[in-house]
Amino acid sequence: MFNVSFFINNQRLKSKSYKTQKGAYKAIYRHFVDNSAASFIHAILTSPELGSENYTHIEQVPFDEPSPISFSLSKEWIKVRAQALARDKSCCQICGASKTVDNNVVLEVDHIKERATHPELALQLSNLQTLCSVCHRAKTNNFIGKKDNQ
Ligand SMILES: [Zn+2]
Repeated sequence: MFNVSFFINNQRLKSKSYKTQKGAYKAIYRHFVDNSAASFIHAILTSPELGSENYTHIEQVPFDEPSPISFSLSKEWIKVRAQALARDKSCCQICGASKTVDNNVVLEVDHIKERATHPELALQLSNLQTLCSVCHRAKTNNFIGKKDNQ
């Protein structure tokens, strides 16, 4: 059993038990994402196997996908994603690639401000842009490198 205590600004919000380590990490990750407006967030995970681990930053949590399947399959996302593609005329907003020019182009809809740090903007059309897979990957890699400066 994995027990997690969730804190916001040093106030204990709740404690919960999880059957799996992954479930506990996911809950801690969500805690950081859901409360990203708070100035100090932490969580303490205790289990017989691990002892006690204190997490004070989202990047320490060994869980890095904010439930990608449920988000990418959500009706809201599918709808706003289609709106972004239509607004951008299905062209990459960095290099201009589109399927009418090259049928091998893969278009993706990017979150300008990343979902992990700005979950409240995840479904905002103004925070979305159409990118080809090449530009999208370049942007994501750049973001990871610069995350601390934002
Ligand atoms: Zn591109």
